[in-house]
Amino acid sequence: MNKAFYSFFSLLLYANFCQSALSGVPGEVIAVEGHGAIFKLDQRFLEINFKDQNYILFAIPYSASNESKQFDGIDINIIKKDFGESRITIEDLSKVDLSKEDADRAYKESMQIRNAVNSYSTDFKPNMDFSSPIPDGIISSRYGKKRFINNTPRSPHLSLDIAANEGTPIQAPSKGKVILTGNFFYSGNYLIIDHGYGLISSYSHMSEIYLEAGDYVEKDQSIGAVGSTGRVTGPHLHWTVYLNKIRINPESLLKKDYLQGILQSYKDVI
Ligand SMILES: [Zn+2]
Repeated sequence: MNKAFYSFFSLLLYANFCQSALSGVPGEVIAVEGHGAIFKLDQRFLEINFKDQNYILFAIPYSASNESKQFDGIDINIIKKDFGESRITIEDLSKVDLSKEDADRAYKESMQIRNAVNSYSTDFKPNMDFSSPIPDGIISSRYGKKRFINNTPRSPHLSLDIAANEGTPIQAPSKGKVILTGNFFYSGNYLIIDHGYGLISSYSHMSEIYLEAGDYVEKDQSIGAVGSTGRVTGPHLHWTVYLNKIRINPESLLKKDYLQGILQSYKDVI
């Protein structure tokens, strides 16, 4: 098949596919049978081969209401889900109403984090088999909660908070490579792991970081310890997982046979 024909064929598939828009719950991952070219020729997605069939894993972005969104050129129906709300009090007001210096620092750091989160490497192919970074921890705030800090509405909480005693080891939920570490204004001692193909996880507020950028990690290896650095109300891990730059629900990844569940839900709707 020549290249031009292949592109045409891919676009044709893409066009057919768009007639039935993707839909899903905010923060969840859905599987669609086929290849990345179906979606967009220059967009790279995580493809998984399971029982001789190829699937693309696709993250549904967060949205507070039922709506249809164009995302990376793809139509997505986002199904409304009530995630509840969380109200926290930050007593150190210098961490809420930032000085010019702190605001500049926080902005620079957010750009550094964004660059890291946008990485796309092909060293590892993730199998989506995640374990909890703190197996004995207690979930203290779930993904998607509307957040109020000192009674003022803020961005929703698109991460999972796991509370544990200061110094409790934090384990890599899956293998990967550390791509960023540092001490950040909001996140405190912070580390990002690249699991490959656009799947990235980050760890905030640690008391200690055991690794450096460039280090490879194995699943369940200790990466640092629980702490209360940065903007926090007490010792906990703020754990974020990104797929294709979209923050997804980390708790869902911990479900038993997570990947099979996603593939099965795809088969149930077709
Ligand atoms: Zn959090």
